[in-house]
Formats: sequence, structure tokens, C-alpha cells
Amino acid sequence: MAPTIALAGNPNSGKTTLFNALTGARQHVGNYPGVTVEKKEGTYSDQRGQIHIVDLPGTYSLTAYSLEEVVARDYLVDENPRVVINIVDASNLERNLYLTLQFLEMGIPVCIALNMMDVAKNRGVSIDSDKLSDILNIPVVPTIARSGMGKKELMASAFWLTRRNEQPSPLNISYGDDVDPVLEKMTRDIRKPGLLQGRYLPRWVALKYLENDEQVISLGRKENPEVSNQLEERVARLADHLKRTLSTYPEAVIADHRYGYIRSLIRQGVISMEGDQDRLHLSDKIDRVVTHRFLGPIMMAAVLFGLYHVTFTFSETPVGWLEGFFGWLGGMVDANLADGLFKSLITAGIIDGVGGVLGFVPLIMLMFFGISILQDSGYLARVAFMLDRVFRVFGLHGASVMAFIVSGGIAGGCAVPGVMATRTLKSPKERLATLLTVPFMNCGAKLPVFALLVGAFLSEGRAGAMFLITVISWGGALLVARLLRSTAIRGESTPFVMELPPYRFPTFKGLLIHTWERTWQYIKKAGTIILSISVLLWAMMTFPGLSEPETEVYNNAREALMAAEGPSVMAELESQTAPETLSESAVTLNAQLASLDAQQAEARLKNSIAGRIGTALEPVSRLAGFDWRTNIALVGGFAAKEVVVSTLGTAYSLGEVDTGESGSLGDVLSASPAWSPLVAWSLIIFIIFYAPCFVAVVCIAREAGSWKWGAFSMLFNTLLAFTLAVAVFQIGSALGF
Ligand code: GDP
Ligand code: MG
Repeated sequence: MAPTIALAGNPNSGKTTLFNALTGARQHVGNYPGVTVEKKEGTYSDQRGQIHIVDLPGTYSLTAYSLEEVVARDYLVDENPRVVINIVDASNLERNLYLTLQFLEMGIPVCIALNMMDVAKNRGVSIDSDKLSDILNIPVVPTIARSGMGKKELMASAFWLTRRNEQPSPLNISYGDDVDPVLEKMTRDIRKPGLLQGRYLPRWVALKYLENDEQVISLGRKENPEVSNQLEERVARLADHLKRTLSTYPEAVIADHRYGYIRSLIRQGVISMEGDQDRLHLSDKIDRVVTHRFLGPIMMAAVLFGLYHVTFTFSETPVGWLEGFFGWLGGMVDANLADGLFKSLITAGIIDGVGGVLGFVPLIMLMFFGISILQDSGYLARVAFMLDRVFRVFGLHGASVMAFIVSGGIAGGCAVPGVMATRTLKSPKERLATLLTVPFMNCGAKLPVFALLVGAFLSEGRAGAMFLITVISWGGALLVARLLRSTAIRGESTPFVMELPPYRFPTFKGLLIHTWERTWQYIKKAGTIILSISVLLWAMMTFPGLSEPETEVYNNAREALMAAEGPSVMAELESQTAPETLSESAVTLNAQLASLDAQQAEARLKNSIAGRIGTALEPVSRLAGFDWRTNIALVGGFAAKEVVVSTLGTAYSLGEVDTGESGSLGDVLSASPAWSPLVAWSLIIFIIFYAPCFVAVVCIAREAGSWKWGAFSMLFNTLLAFTLAVAVFQIGSALGF
């Protein structure tokens, strides 16, 4: 029997004309079952054989909003034609490709008849059909239906497709940060019980629920009311969220991203125009400047630098307040609790640890606010688009850029969703290379560490230093990707398409909500994971403590000092008078006692479990300028990067003389002889590159499909980080910094 192909396209794209040209007189007209929509069928034949052709009703979309759309879709799903010839009006490419995308999303084998080429040409538009074919990975044949031009070539492609047995993999368009995660969850919800299986693809069903497609929803309800309910609830929640943040709704976001996808596809040289540029839309006009070959990157650098500058300038005061508050809180607790383990747990374990992290909330909030502006306005997608040219050089993909940005490419992201974002990459090799390099970005958890070090040691050029850190992490990520792509994961690149959503003015309310969502995640993490890790680390830094005889040595020394000065000086010290009114001998005694306390505290920390680990690593870590305290912090950072700050806080307050006036950690570090700007840089480099946090490693292993890659990222990254940090420290020392 002759294979069946369907002819589909927008109204007035020339479908009937092409149908007549192909079938001549051999056609008959009937109706689609149960409806009054006309159904035309016919037969085409040449030396290769016969093909049965069905002319579908003209539609702009495949959502069940109109009868024509339902008929066309049902035909495609129920009759399962071998191939769809999609007639596309070349003079109106952008709008026509909208339907094409939907065929591709359904996983239907498609061949494009690029019709009305004569009209396009008269308007001064020339279209590179080979390029379009390359990007979409389907045959594209230019035609002029009225004259029959291209008819033979078109049918050659159709025959070829009917004989090819493999089903194309469906196109997965990304629908943005708000929709994608929900879409993904819904797809899982659908796949598990096999809702509407056999008829539709799970992701496609999820999309239809999001698009509020009544036909699919009622089929879903009939088959499994419970699952359908759950899906509808998810959609309602998302709709509510979108309304509040962006005052839009899911269908609109989906349509926007489809058009964005098309726009970026067309922008890659598919269309070139001669003269007559008035018809460009406003978004396109802005894009001509913003993504300009030279102006674009300069603007991008300026925007990012401006973001850092504003963030650091405006956050300085509130960060100071919060640090002051936690310092005050620590002092209060210190004054009101009896000395001992419990007090140490509360002050050193909990307040210093969690306070160190929460102190950065204003900074993180401002950074997130800036990023939300860039993202909601549509600029971030342009950044990705521009960086694509660079990315190809390093064996990565345009879509990798988004994963890098999500992971913290502009500072303040997270590698976990970044790792998830790599799912949009089709080529497994590019995907793996992206997966393994996204953890080098400056995630929101590394920010406080950098902010601390930069604030303490590089205060003259904070914005510049942060910018440099960003450049280093990107440079490192790209070079490592290049290295991986030419060694462990060699292979071809795939052509790429990325969404360019239209520019929008972000709403203030939307920005606030997006900022708050991200900040809240950070705070929640500080409240849970970091709290437990701080307590665990505190325990590791406290136990087993000093032995009796060792403690005795310090106590004896103390008593000897006090006995030498006599009871009157002791009484003076205990009377709690203001320091400036103390006698000279009381001041001296006080200082001597304090120095003894500090020595004892340091000895206790060094003897603790963490101290032993840190000390054992010290001979090696010295090469990079890290002492045992830093080592403890870095080990803690494997649990979560913020912990580096809180652990340093704990490590230093334990060794401190007077917990009552702890001062901020930055001051303590910059006053410590073990630290210098060079050590700070060496540590920054190490933190950029060393093992991803535990959660990210788990995600990498899961996404890469093997624990091998999880282990690889831990070992390889740490080794790389150490090598780089040693190089920085040794070369810096040799140069006399
Ligand atoms: P349908 O709605 O998709 O079935 O479109 P039709 O086949 O009815 O065509 C709409 C109009 O476009 C008719 O006037 C056709 O003659 C004209 N047309 C179709 N194909 C071409 C073409 O390639 N070039 C030009 N210039 N006109 C065409
Ligand atoms: Mg027609």
C-alpha cells in the first residue's frame, strides 16, 4: 500500500495550490469523520512509486483552540501519517515556523516546503534554506507552488523520509526558568502512570496542560482523574505565580519562548534583507545594538561590572549592621551564660556560624535583584546568544551558556539547577562537558567567601576584584571544557538554536518576588544545612579537647602569674572597672592571662579532630599558603561552600582572646600574620576550582548517568584547584608579594 503523507500549513500558505500541483486530477473530496471540515485526498506518483496525500485544514497552531486545529491534530495522532509536508510561507517565515515547531515537538517526521519564494524575493528577502535545514535537522525545499517549481525535489525528500525508519527525537524547547521545572515535574507525573501513553508523548501532554488545551485535559481526566487533578493543580500554581511575578500566564510564556526560539534561529543567517528595514520590530531594533558584534560585548562587560559595583556599594552599610548585630548577640550570650561547652556551642557553633552566612543576605539580595532585572527584561538571553560564538570555540554549545549563567556565571546562582539546565543540550558530549564545568562558576554560596576575602584584603578595588574573579572562573571553565572535549569527551558539535524572548519592562513587584524567592532559598539553607554543619564542625573543633595534665600546665601557669602579682591586683581585675582606669600592673597581668588563654584555646583546637585533619594536611597545603585553619574550612566547604566562611568564623573566634569584642571576621583575618593578599588570592583560586559541593556532585553523577563522573569532578577539580593555587602562591611569593 502507498504510504500516506499529510500536507499541513498556515491558511494561505499555498497548501491547496501545492496539493493540486502534486496530485493533478487524481483527488477526491470528503469530510473528516463527524465534522463539517472538508477533507481532500489525492495520489502522487513518479518513477519511485505512489504516495497518498491528505490536505489538512490550514492552522496557525496545534492547540485545540479551534475546530481546524483539533481536526488536524487528531488526524496526525490517530492516522499517524508517515511524513508531514509542512508548507511554510517564506515571505512570512517567523509566523509560519510557529506551526513547524509544534510538529517537531510532537516528534513527527517533517519536511518543509519553503513556498512563495518568488514573493520573498520581490520583497528583498533572501532565505538560506540549507542553513534552516541544518539548524532544524529536517529537509527544507524551496518551492513556488503556483509554477510548480521545487515540486520534484520536495517529493524526493518526502520519499526519502517515508523510507527512513527511525523516528526523529522530539524537539525540546526551553520555556524559561519559571515554566521548565514545572514542565519537567509534570512530565514525570505523566510518564509514571503512563497517562495518554501510546497516543501522545509525556512532555507534549504536559505542555498541553500548561497551554490549557481542553481536549487533552478532558481525555486526561477521563483516563485518570487523580493524576489529571494533580497536573491541573500544578498548572494553577504556576499560573498564579506567573501572574504575580510577570503579570502573564503560561500560554503566553510558552508562545513567547517559541517565537524567541524562531527569532534566534532566523538570526543565525537564515534570512538576509536588502534595504527596507522599517519592518523590524522594536525588539529586533534593540537587538541590532545590544548584540552588535563590537558594541554588544562592550555593553555586556559594562553591565556586569556595573552590577558588581552597585551591589558592593549599596550593600556595605546593611552588611555592617548585620555583622554588628551578630557581634552584639554573641556578646550578650557570652556575658549571660556560664563558661562551658553549652556557651561555646551557642556562640562559636551557632551564632558565629549562621551569623557569618546571614550577614551577607543584603549583598546577596542586591545581586539577585540585579540579576532578576537582567533576566526578566530579556537581556540575559542576549548575553547567552552573544557568548555562543565564543562557546563553540571551546567545544561547547550555545545552550551551555544558560547553564553557566544559572550556575552563577554572573555571580549568585547555583550549580544544582545549572546541572539540570544542561538537559536542553542534545549532544551528549557537549552536555557532559558542560555538566563538568558549570561548578566553576561563582555560585551564590561562594559569593560570601569571595566577599569576605575581597573585603578584607583587596578593599581598594572590590568591584574590579569581583569582576576579575568572574573572568577567571569563566576562563577556567572554558579551558577545561576545551581540554575535556579534545581528550576524554571528544566528538562533533551540533548546530544550535536558542530562545530570544522579546524585551519587556520588568515589573517592580515581579522583581521583588524573584529576588525574595532566591534570597529565601539562601536563608533556608543557612538555617538548615549550614546550621547542622556548623554544629558538626564545632563538635569536630571542640572534641576531644586537652587532656588533664595538659590543662593543668595552663592552670598552673595562670596561678603562678596571679600569685606573683598579689591579691590586690586580682581584686582590681575582678571588680570589672573600665579598662582605662586600671593600674599598670593590672593591665599587664590581664594581657598575660589573655595570651595564656589564647595559647590554650589554640592548643585545644589543634588537638581536636578537625585540627588534626587540618594539621595533617598542612605540610601539603602550605605550598598554596593555607594553614590548618583554612584546611578545616575548606573541608567543610565540600558540604556547602558558605560553610567556608562560617568555619573560619568558628576557627578564629575559638582562638580569640576576648569573645566579647570579637570584631568582624574580615578584621580578624586582615590582622592575622598568617594572611596576606597573596594568600587570599591563592584561596580564591582554590575555591573557584575545587570539588563542587556534595549536592552538586550527586546531581552531576545522576545527570551524567554514572558515579564515575561524580568522582571525576571531585578529584579532578580539587587537583586542578590545588595546582593553580600553588602556582599563584609560589609565583607570587617569588615575585615578592
Ligand atoms: P491555502 O489557504 O494554503 O490552501 O492557500 P492557497 O493554495 O489557496 O493559496 C493562496 C494564494 O496564494 C493563492 O492565490 C495562490 O495562487 C497563491 N500562491 C500559492 N503558492 C504561491 C507561490 O509560490 N507564489 C505566489 N506568488 N503565489 C502563490
Ligand atoms: Mg486551501
